[in-house]
Amino acid sequence: MDGENWKEAIFLKRVSLKLMTFVIAFNSFGAFNIKVKIGDAKKKVEISGQNITRNIVPLKSRKSFKGRKKFKFNCDDLGSNYKRRESLHLASLSSKTGLVTYDNKKYIGNIHIITSKNTDSCDVINEIGIDQYISSLLSKEMNSSWPIEALKAQAVAARTYALNRIKKTETIHYHLENSEKHQVNGDFFDVTMKTLRAAKQTAGYVLKNKKGELVPAFFHASCGGRTLKPNEVWTNNVHGYHRGVNCGHCKTKKNWQKTISKVRFRKFLSWLKKNDLVRFKSINKRIYILRDNPEKKYLRVKLGSRIHKIRKSYLRRYFGRVDFSSNNFYMADSGANEFTFVGKGRGHGVGMCQVGAKSLAQRGWSYRKILAHYFPDLEIKKVY
Ligand SMILES: [Zn+2]
Repeated sequence: MDGENWKEAIFLKRVSLKLMTFVIAFNSFGAFNIKVKIGDAKKKVEISGQNITRNIVPLKSRKSFKGRKKFKFNCDDLGSNYKRRESLHLASLSSKTGLVTYDNKKYIGNIHIITSKNTDSCDVINEIGIDQYISSLLSKEMNSSWPIEALKAQAVAARTYALNRIKKTETIHYHLENSEKHQVNGDFFDVTMKTLRAAKQTAGYVLKNKKGELVPAFFHASCGGRTLKPNEVWTNNVHGYHRGVNCGHCKTKKNWQKTISKVRFRKFLSWLKKNDLVRFKSINKRIYILRDNPEKKYLRVKLGSRIHKIRKSYLRRYFGRVDFSSNNFYMADSGANEFTFVGKGRGHGVGMCQVGAKSLAQRGWSYRKILAHYFPDLEIKKVY
């Protein structure tokens, strides 16, 4: 055997061992499937796998192929028929092995190809059992080496978020995007025995509010000392069941710091004005930011003689997540030409603090106790 063949043989061994694990862990495929968008506006889509069944949906043409095969789909000239407001289902691919390769990653479940909205391109969707989805996500959203109770807390929060998306989703072809916008899921090789265990031992458990309604349970990397209420971060506050709680379990030695020139800050003010987020009469005045501290959720900005309150989360929205790592910050220094902001934590700050959950689990807290701490207004319920 040459090197390549060895690689293939070792790879197949890994796959078969993993699949055995799945069979043992999941007698059924999970309660239902979730559809996650894994490819966005692709001109070309390549899917491969063993013993694939391919269904070209508009032609109702279904065919099974023996052995390993690669399928190529050109999506750069779909013709006017496909330019509709709602995406069109073009093809579905599934494998007897339960694994399909797309973009050099192995996915569990089926792959669907749909037309992207308003462009000549395709989106790629992975349809996967809910608990398999959760077990692949845990390695990405947390780390599979983290304590099991932290992974279980994350599994319940992520399942709640996902089921809520399934319930509320408007598009018919998928429920979630694989990105920080929604949740970051992994592929087949992100699933470990430990993440499988965390998904399985919490299967069916979600967070509900006191009225028994399924609600999106938010989470973020680290809060920096205290979690935030949704209305401190987002404008449309429909999530009244999240409280701000003290954390103190994610203490990071390093703060983040960002200096913004007054020229850029003025552009930010005109963006606020344009989007009707703050009503300024004129922004062509001298800008001061009044004394600030980390407790304050608003910046007090003085323009001429008027003082305006500006929600801090608008800065993160405008300057981006790279410059403003979290919503937990304050204006620390005002120079002649710039402002310096100092902050703690990473992520939006609402709901469960993942680093905090990890250190609580290390101290022996159960996932139930961790969830009760970060979601004091929510209850754990079994839905399947
Ligand atoms: Zn925290």
